[in-house]
Amino acid sequence: MKAAIFKEKNLLVVEDIPDPKPKDDEILMKVSYCAICGSDLHRYCYGMMSGGTIMGHEYSGVVVDVGKNVKAFKVGDRGTRCGGKITPGRDFPNFPPRYSAKERGFLSSKPGAYAQYMTAAAEMMMKIPEEITDLEASLIEPLTVAVHMVRISNIRLGDKTVVLGAGPIGLFAQQCASLAGASKVYVSDINPTRLKVALKLGAHQVFDPTKVDLVKEIVALTDGLGADLAFECAGAKPTLQQALELVKMGGRVMVVSLAWEQVDCLPVEWVGREVEMKACYGHLNSEWLISLALMQEKKIQTKPMISKIIGLSEIQEAFQELLRPGNDLIQVVVQCNE
Ligand SMILES: [Zn+2]
Repeated sequence: MKAAIFKEKNLLVVEDIPDPKPKDDEILMKVSYCAICGSDLHRYCYGMMSGGTIMGHEYSGVVVDVGKNVKAFKVGDRGTRCGGKITPGRDFPNFPPRYSAKERGFLSSKPGAYAQYMTAAAEMMMKIPEEITDLEASLIEPLTVAVHMVRISNIRLGDKTVVLGAGPIGLFAQQCASLAGASKVYVSDINPTRLKVALKLGAHQVFDPTKVDLVKEIVALTDGLGADLAFECAGAKPTLQQALELVKMGGRVMVVSLAWEQVDCLPVEWVGREVEMKACYGHLNSEWLISLALMQEKKIQTKPMISKIIGLSEIQEAFQELLRPGNDLIQVVVQCNE
């Protein structure tokens, strides 16, 4: 089969490698789509993995073989990733106590889905209902990140919210905040194409923070108070500070973006308002089922977010393009079997 292999910093090469075989508890899947995640771009450009790795963790596909212990899937079923077993009372990924997203977050034990075929533990997969296409299902993982963030944000009915960064996570956060009862969702991004999509997905107003003073605009729109809640989904140099400044007295900032470089922070501007900041990372196992249900009930739109569907052979080019500052892409999805 063909797979996109990480060779070194900034280089993916598509090569022919032997087809994987499922172990007793695994399924073999013919990959339909694998969406390119911002975290893959980080791993690629910071070289945070060893040569030979196959990335890709946002996928969907069709089961073509099952291990002898697998009961939940049969050949022909469509499947996508999930969080695995839901243990009541302890629904949390098994991270070590000093987990660091930089040092540990990018180690991957299994070959991923930038390939024609992949194996996966059957318990880490869920079936795709017929209302959901394979293409949509490849976006369940980033949707679940936004679902997790909005669920732990303590959002309340009527809250005025701001999303900073209209990439895939930001645009899903925007939709989830609306579903959770936000009365206003304002979106900020420096890219006009992304802002257009945010409007299409229901943003009340959008802002380019290089053209207007975002903090002033939000304060003016909220009767001089500031927003109730901000979602920092950009990870750009000024955006954390903007988020902390634009929330109201006692307001809350959720930080999901993983900035790999130093960012601006001037606490004297916001400490006096006793604002809260909360980091969020990944997802709880049970939240995958929430994402699946939201998609199944057509409460989440994915189509306007998909900028491009490419073949495996175009993946190196796509990574380079996605890393180019000012590019117009939002979500790029790899069609792994053309
Ligand atoms: Zn991802």
